[in-house]
Amino acid sequence: MNQFVCNANFQLVVTGYDPAYNKIILGEGCGFYKSKNTCNPITNYEGIHTLFSTIVHEVEHAKIECDVWQYTHSSHPNIHAGFSSLWDIDGDGYKDIWELNSVPGMLYGFTVNPGNPTNVDAYSSNYGVCFCAGSCSAGTMFEEIRCRNVEAALNYSLIDNDDWSFDPTNKIQGKQWK
Ligand SMILES: [Zn+2]
Repeated sequence: MNQFVCNANFQLVVTGYDPAYNKIILGEGCGFYKSKNTCNPITNYEGIHTLFSTIVHEVEHAKIECDVWQYTHSSHPNIHAGFSSLWDIDGDGYKDIWELNSVPGMLYGFTVNPGNPTNVDAYSSNYGVCFCAGSCSAGTMFEEIRCRNVEAALNYSLIDNDDWSFDPTNKIQGKQWK
């Protein structure tokens, strides 16, 4: 999951999350900007909005993991809320009954084939090309679309009152110093 990319086009503040432990990994911030739309990078989040959007995005991944593993369905009363590898026959990281019965599971075409289990739906952080082409795995498309929708729906002015960051170059000045 870890990725750390520092270049002019793509900059991360949070470097990923660890699905095994539901933990968000905060890395060395390397940029003040992040594209608002990775597939159509015209405008950027700036400064504290970059941090805010990135943390909220990564937290959403953790929320997804909770949704998936807390999921139960009346057709399988013996499968309880919580994690067991026995409930993920295809080993893709998603609870099988969630894949087959939940609204997003069906919408994104998650599959489970007990006779020929493959982890084809597994999430991959290597989505740079396939995400914009719409051809990533079901897990990747579902998670990245949901997390990016949550980013886009944030009210960014809410955090401006807390922005006491100071930029001596005055390029991306903290909102409270203006
Ligand atoms: Zn993501």
